[in-house]
Amino acid sequence: MNTLRAYIKTFVLWELWQGLSITLRNLFRPSITVQYPEDKTPQSVRFRGLHALRRYPNGEERCIACKLCEAVCPALAITIESDVAADGTRRTTRYDIDLFKCIYCGFCEEACPVDAIVETRIHEYYMEKPGENIMTKDKLLAIGDKYDAMISADKAADARYR
Ligand code: SF4
Ligand code: SF4
Repeated sequence: MNTLRAYIKTFVLWELWQGLSITLRNLFRPSITVQYPEDKTPQSVRFRGLHALRRYPNGEERCIACKLCEAVCPALAITIESDVAADGTRRTTRYDIDLFKCIYCGFCEEACPVDAIVETRIHEYYMEKPGENIMTKDKLLAIGDKYDAMISADKAADARYR
């Protein structure tokens, strides 16, 4: 009986008509395609994109070179070297994040006791040359400086959800 049914379905092109019926059903529905990059979908304030290192309002680096982010990173993407600065504080002399290794888990941000390393909502970036995947301390601080207002607003909004 099943064999006969299969034969009949094959003969009348049953699967083809099924597929066409789905096409017909969706033909007159409103389109849900977003015309990226002109149109953008809403983004969560917790979106984990490009990293940044933050400063305090007086310009002082937040990072105290505790290396918790380096220790917690499951992808071993962070490399930190540190030394004692002239004012006696401990500071990083090297802070690299390898974006090719990073899995954007956000553990570094969670582990940081002073909110120094953060993941911003920036997701539109690219690399053209070898080595550009390494985010150095200078690059990370520059992103933090440039997008400080957005990062602060996202942190405040996130705190309200918790
Ligand atoms: S987001 Fe995750 S994988 Fe990327 S640097 Fe931070 S801890 Fe490492
Ligand atoms: S970014 Fe935060 S967790 Fe990482 S070394 Fe600096 S202070 Fe420590």
